Amino acid sequence: MRLRRLLGCIAALAHTATNAVATTSGAPRARTDTIIVHAISGPLQECPRGKLEFSGAPGDAKRWKTFFDRHPFLGIHYVVDRDGRVEASTPEHRKANHALGASESSIGIEMVHNGDGIEPFGPAQLGALIKLLRDIAKRHNIAVDNIKGHADVDSRTFKCGSQTHKGRMDPGANFPWAEVRAALQGQPAPVAAAAPIPTASATALPAAVPVLLEPPRLVERGLVR
Ligand SMILES: [Zn+2]
Repeated sequence: MRLRRLLGCIAALAHTATNAVATTSGAPRARTDTIIVHAISGPLQECPRGKLEFSGAPGDAKRWKTFFDRHPFLGIHYVVDRDGRVEASTPEHRKANHALGASESSIGIEMVHNGDGIEPFGPAQLGALIKLLRDIAKRHNIAVDNIKGHADVDSRTFKCGSQTHKGRMDPGANFPWAEVRAALQGQPAPVAAAAPIPTASATALPAAVPVLLEPPRLVERGLVR
């Protein structure tokens, strides 16, 4: 009886400790059949100045990993920096809220990128993304056709000026899908090999680090979902 009570206490402590350092490690997922590629930045749906504008993607992958680690409801499995560095946030076997209606069976990857169809995708970032996609697809037996963009799985729209736009356009109109799919289907990657892929760790953040406070409007604008 005492042993059971002690184990119960340890479980409660472990639960508390996990919550203290990572709020976006969701429930375990039963299956993984899709990978969804995002860009951090998205269209500003309040339509400032009456024309289409994007929120932008300032900072590096570490900054965004911390943002997702600490966010009360948004999450992501990986963040790929413009320089090719990869950060892991939510562990792969857990759900991360990154794509409405599609998070249950998917792994999400955010690229630190404007996603506006204008900013080019540099070779370091693309190379790292391809390496990561290849690795995840192999481990979870995911077909190349099931590697999608956020825009492919979210059909919501908004009005801006006289036009209707997709609310989720990421990873962006100029994302080189053909090149990426060719690389994943056995042809050589177009760029040099990237750094090793890190593994998510629920204890990566010390509890003493203050919670990162993002301007709430960034989330309301649909910056990361
Ligand atoms: Zn997205």
